[in-house]
Amino acid sequence: MPEYSPFSMASLLFTTGLLSVFITLRYLAIAGFFYWALWKRPGNPLHARRLTNIQPPGRLIRHEIRWSLIASVIYAFAGAIIIDAWRNGHTLIYFDVSDYGVAYLLLSVPIYMFLHDTWFYWTHRIMHHRKLFRVMHKVHHESRQPTPWAGFSFHPWESLVGALVLPLLVFLVPIHIGALIFLLVVMSVTSVTNHSGFELLPDSWVRGIIGRHWISATHHNLHHQNFRKNFALYFRFWDRVMGTDEMEQAYDFLRHRHVRENV
Ligand SMILES: [Zn+2]
Ligand SMILES: [Zn+2]
Repeated sequence: MPEYSPFSMASLLFTTGLLSVFITLRYLAIAGFFYWALWKRPGNPLHARRLTNIQPPGRLIRHEIRWSLIASVIYAFAGAIIIDAWRNGHTLIYFDVSDYGVAYLLLSVPIYMFLHDTWFYWTHRIMHHRKLFRVMHKVHHESRQPTPWAGFSFHPWESLVGALVLPLLVFLVPIHIGALIFLLVVMSVTSVTNHSGFELLPDSWVRGIIGRHWISATHHNLHHQNFRKNFALYFRFWDRVMGTDEMEQAYDFLRHRHVRENV
């Protein structure tokens, strides 16, 4: 057996290639399903949950798909770095639950989500600075009314910033492989559903004791309308702390619009 050379470029590129195929297919499957189910399906029963009446043109959807496919390769590269580092024993990814216990396993998921959310909130706010916005974040905000295809519609600079967080965290905070896979699924699904243009969660959940701290499509859709509010990813914590949260009045408005459309 030849000795494995850490971070060898050939190995990184090979793993990046494999992961690119997987991440692209995952994106096409999840975004394609939600786009069909919400925007194309005849007699969509969730029509009343649509967040605005803006009809995104085909040009915009092609823009979302194009940038998302480029972003998939960058995420794949980040994934390849994690796999490469793990194969060399450099990460804190573990396979045996008893290493840290069940309590830590359960706690590690919200810890990772909070740290990811913190990273996302602050880097997102920085990218809204006028000197960075055009270069890094304008691509994402071309979607004034996003569709599910916008889930990964980022300029490569923004994708790089977003893709950095997991490779950093796996060196710092222990995570079970199952919890890591669960987090990747949550990331993929929420990025598509929060850009779907439809509120998929029931009003009672969104306004409920847990749901009112959790970000769903209504919250993020408002960020695409009002660039100064609602920067966070999973939780409304940082938006509330920093005074950038906009939801209560907006949700009342949206709820009443749904009711009006249903009568
Ligand atoms: Zn967005
Ligand atoms: Zn933004």
